Amino acid sequence: MIDLAKKHFEKVVKLCGANRDCRYYPCHFDSQVCLWCFCPFYPCYDEELGEFIEGRDGSKVWSCIKCSWIHRPEVACEVLREILELIGDRDTEEALQLFERRDLLMEIMRRVREKFS
Ligand code: SF4
Repeated sequence: MIDLAKKHFEKVVKLCGANRDCRYYPCHFDSQVCLWCFCPFYPCYDEELGEFIEGRDGSKVWSCIKCSWIHRPEVACEVLREILELIGDRDTEEALQLFERRDLLMEIMRRVREKFS
């Protein structure tokens, strides 16, 4: 493998695989997938996955501490596949605008939850 490919491979492994260089790794389970370190569905309000906790100011905050679902390889890959399908041939700016559409994201989550509960 040439050096540029190796460097790129390193980035892919860190982004899509288990990022063992992260100071928080493993935040959920060993060999977890870190692709969705920041979950695209936050806050999903799915009480089978996360829960409301009390924030410092006493307000209710959605917590994902107990959610390992999004870090499962099959789930992370399926979410990526769905998102790429949604993006289609849009450019990055247009793709980012899609992320403002909560209804679209939650529909993806619903489909992936149906496949992988
Ligand atoms: S509970 Fe899980 S699926 Fe829901 S927002 Fe948090 S990390 Fe994402």
